[in-house]
Amino acid sequence: PDTAELALIEASIRDIPDFPQPGILFKDITPLLNEPEALAATVRGLAAPFRGAGIDHVVGLEARGFIFGAPVAMALGAGFVPARKAGKLPSDIIDQAYDLEYGTATVEIHADAITPGSRVLVVDDVLATGGTGRAAVELVRKAGGTVVGFSVLMELSALQGRGKMPDVELHTLLSV
Ligand code: AMP
Repeated sequence: PDTAELALIEASIRDIPDFPQPGILFKDITPLLNEPEALAATVRGLAAPFRGAGIDHVVGLEARGFIFGAPVAMALGAGFVPARKAGKLPSDIIDQAYDLEYGTATVEIHADAITPGSRVLVVDDVLATGGTGRAAVELVRKAGGTVVGFSVLMELSALQGRGKMPDVELHTLLSV
């Protein structure tokens, strides 16, 4: 995206203080989704660095990574694979657990979704601590895929999620 498009994207993301809990500044992308030019520029921007990279599958992280991941997959001529929270996928799965501030969570994909040896781009809306993204990277590798990159709309730099991705080509449209 050019400077004007990035400004439009940034202006279309709304800050909601203390959601879903006190102390969290939630980045609400629903205004962006409802703004056609911002939505199109976001999808183009997430896909752009990976055009010509031979991407076979785009993995989108539940739930907002689904919204961006599917059109990014179409832009790249790739398939789309949802990475879901535990217990949502109906067929055989592979999973990866990761630590939360309190306790753990799990991400899952269908065991037959990623062809071994295929090239994979992971997509999400926000990179915060990086825990979710890191688990998705491990999950793709467990499935035999090569993680070509991780494309994210917005990085919350103070939370240092980038530090969890030293071995991944991390692409972010906005860093705040
Ligand atoms: P993390 O695992 O900490 O990087 O968190 C990433 C996931 O949580 C992403 O799927 C985001 O959609 C969501 N998330 C975390 N923090 C925020 C925030 N401040 N605003 C919006 N979404 C967030």
